[in-house]
Amino acid sequence: MTSTPTAPPRMQPAATSSTSIAARAVDVVKTYGAGEAAVRALDCATVSIPRGRFTAVMGPSGSGKSTLVHALAGLDQIDSGRVLLGETDLSTLTERERTILRRERVGFVFQAFNLLPALTARENIALPLTLAGKRPDPAWEAALVDMLGLGSRLGHRPAQLSGGQQQRVAVGRALIARPELVFADEPTGNLDSRAGAALLAFMRDATRSLAQTIVMVTHDPVAASYADRVVFLADGRIVSELIDPTPETVLASMARLDGPDGA
Ligand code: ADP
Repeated sequence: MTSTPTAPPRMQPAATSSTSIAARAVDVVKTYGAGEAAVRALDCATVSIPRGRFTAVMGPSGSGKSTLVHALAGLDQIDSGRVLLGETDLSTLTERERTILRRERVGFVFQAFNLLPALTARENIALPLTLAGKRPDPAWEAALVDMLGLGSRLGHRPAQLSGGQQQRVAVGRALIARPELVFADEPTGNLDSRAGAALLAFMRDATRSLAQTIVMVTHDPVAASYADRVVFLADGRIVSELIDPTPETVLASMARLDGPDGA
C-alpha cells in the first residue's frame, strides 16, 4: 500500500501482455434448468477484462450480462470453459476457496446500495476489512473518502444520507480493500441523473488515477459512455465491443443488436 491522500499511484495504460489482464472468461457455458426448459445463459462467452480500466457490459435483457458478471466474480459455478481472476482458475477452487477469493479480491456495488443500516458511513466503508479482522489503511481510507466527497458524512447512518451519498459509501466499501476487480451491477439505477453522473465520474477517476479495475453492467448508454470500453452480449456471447464509447456510438451499437440485421 503506497498511496497517500495527495498522491495516489498512477499506472501505465494497460498493454496487451497477459499481465495486464485482470480477469478472463474463456468459452464459458452456463445453463440454467434441464431438458426442454434448459436456458443457455452463456454460450461460449469469451472476454478479457484489462487491468486498471473501466469496462461496461451491455446487451438486451436476458442476453447473459448478469450471468457473465457472476461467473467472473466467482459467484456462480459454470458448466464448462474457464474463468480466471488474475492467474487463478476459479474452476479449480472449492466453494469455500471461492468465498475467500470473493471476499479478498473482488468488490461489489449493487443497484440497491445494500448498506447496513445500524452502521455509520465510515463503518460501512470499513466493513470488508472489519469482517476479515483488519483495519483500513488510514492514508487509503482518507484518500477514498476525499475522492468520494464523504468527509462530512462519515458519522451518519445510511438513513441520514441521500441516495447518491449512500451509493458513494457502497463504492467506498467496494474499494477499501483495494480488490483486483470491482463489479458494479446497474450502480446508477436508483440515482437521479446528477448523482449518477457524479458516481460514474468517480468510478472513471478510480480507474484512471488509482489503477482500479471496474466492470459495470448497465443498460444506460450515457452510463456506458463513462467506460473505456463497452462489450456487448447477445444470446450468451460477446458479439461486439466499442473502445472510447460515446452515448451516440453506444446507441448505434445497441440499435444494430436489436435491429433485423443484428447479431
Ligand atoms: P441479463 O443480465 O442480460 O438480463 P441474465 O444473465 O440474467 O441476463 O439471464 C440470461 C438468461 O438466463 C435469461 O434467459 C434468464 O431468464 C436465464 N436465467 C438467469 N438466471 C436464471 C436462473 N437462476 N434460473 C433460470 N434461468 C435463469
